[in-house]
Amino acid sequence: MANEANNFQELISHCKEYGYIFQSSEIYDGLSAVYDYGQNGAQLKKNIRDYWWKSMTQLHDNIVGIDAAIFMHPTVWKASGHVDNFSDPMIDNKDSKKRYRVDHLIEGFADEQIAIGNEQLAKDVLASMDALLTKDDYVGLKKLIEDNKIKCAISKTSNWTDVRQFNLMFSTEFGAVASDNPEDNKVYLRPETAQGIFVNFLNVQKTGRMKIPFGIAQTGKAFRNEIVARQFIFRMREFEQMEMQFFIRPGSQMEWYNYWKETRKKWHESLGIPAEKLRFHDHVKLAHYADAALDIEFEFPFGWKELEGIHSRTDFDLSQHQTYSKKKMQYFDNDIDPATGKAYGNYVPYVLETSVGLDRLFLTIISLAYAEEKWLKEDGTEDSRVVLKIPAKIAPTKLAILPLLKKDGLPEIAKELFDSCKESFHCFYEEKDAIGKRYRRMDAVGTPFCVTIDHQTKEDNTVTIRYRDTMTQERIALKDVKQLITEKIS
Ligand code: ATP
Repeated sequence: MANEANNFQELISHCKEYGYIFQSSEIYDGLSAVYDYGQNGAQLKKNIRDYWWKSMTQLHDNIVGIDAAIFMHPTVWKASGHVDNFSDPMIDNKDSKKRYRVDHLIEGFADEQIAIGNEQLAKDVLASMDALLTKDDYVGLKKLIEDNKIKCAISKTSNWTDVRQFNLMFSTEFGAVASDNPEDNKVYLRPETAQGIFVNFLNVQKTGRMKIPFGIAQTGKAFRNEIVARQFIFRMREFEQMEMQFFIRPGSQMEWYNYWKETRKKWHESLGIPAEKLRFHDHVKLAHYADAALDIEFEFPFGWKELEGIHSRTDFDLSQHQTYSKKKMQYFDNDIDPATGKAYGNYVPYVLETSVGLDRLFLTIISLAYAEEKWLKEDGTEDSRVVLKIPAKIAPTKLAILPLLKKDGLPEIAKELFDSCKESFHCFYEEKDAIGKRYRRMDAVGTPFCVTIDHQTKEDNTVTIRYRDTMTQERIALKDVKQLITEKIS
């Protein structure tokens, strides 16, 4: 795992060199906290998304998927509370003019204290911060920063403005008609995909004849004007979420909260993430819509951070949309309540949300996969490689097909194998360079299997298969290649 700062920089360079992630608009020096996925990155991202989508919508018979638009009626964001509440407390350094999210500034200070052995101070400062954030006590937060002489990383001074709120939503204008009041045409780029699910709750419930408990899943872009956009694709201004809203009976939320908390952690482990690199972090300060919330955290190369949020959102969102739209957001439950002996009847469902960032999960997987390996060869000299040990089931390319030479009919056999496999999984064909060099390139790009066609293939119809993770090789029948890879990636 790339768990040191310099290794993390190498991982970022590697992602660029092997077509995974590029800075957006790089030829114009990039756009801060916006990234493009290259040919391998786009495929890996799609494979992760598909894996999530399948586990939600195919492996659960009571969850369906939708694809709502990014633009939504502006009242959606008023009703959801985002216009008034979707903000973070910020503070500016007067000398450098740099703006910080208050929690990030204080957490950064705590990290520095831990690094120099002042663990108690770090603990105390974080506990005070949590308490002050819970009370929205901005004066107290500023005092905490000043009392601890927390400095700006650029100016190295503690010359701070007051703490104030900063809304994270991006807005733009809709339509071609000019208006005197720009607010008339104002629309937002959605800061979360969840609201697209809430406003479609009745459409899906009725057309799908869904019975509670049931879920609606969605993947898609979300946009946040993050102030401290940092740590590569961990915190971006344009990113992708994979969210599922699970509609339940009021009162059953804690049961489902515990169920989804465990289910989602196990799902991450099914992607090869070791259990000891995942942990739960209960929220101290709950969002305005939640009665319980936690993060599933992963130990990123730069520390433990949120990967996924599990939120018990009560009936807040549906009730708000009911109030603002004046449309009933209710469900008629004709199951019998054992407590009363009567049908549960009409109610606004409660909601349990699972919300994971696709880009953060991508970063999790790639940082676990990246390894720089060194070993001694039989002749005593050192050898090394950089390898991406991405789980085979989500690797962008599954099989590299490599004719040993560019002649003697070997490319023809290789191309025939390529054509017979390409319908089933992604293959890559290459005939340039020595075979050792080609293996190294496939290791670096993360291709789990290589098959080499050589002269023996012409004699006995066997090929060499090489396994990326162990670098072991074995001879198998050419006719068995497709079946073997299919089994390994399923
Ligand atoms: P954070 O505290 O890190 O800002 P959050 O609590 O605001 O995250 P949620 O609103 O719960 O995040 O969003 C759900 C998920 O979306 C997060 O767990 C994360 O994986 C992802 N996410 C949120 N903001 C970003 C971002 N700016 N860039 C990339 N992914 C993000």
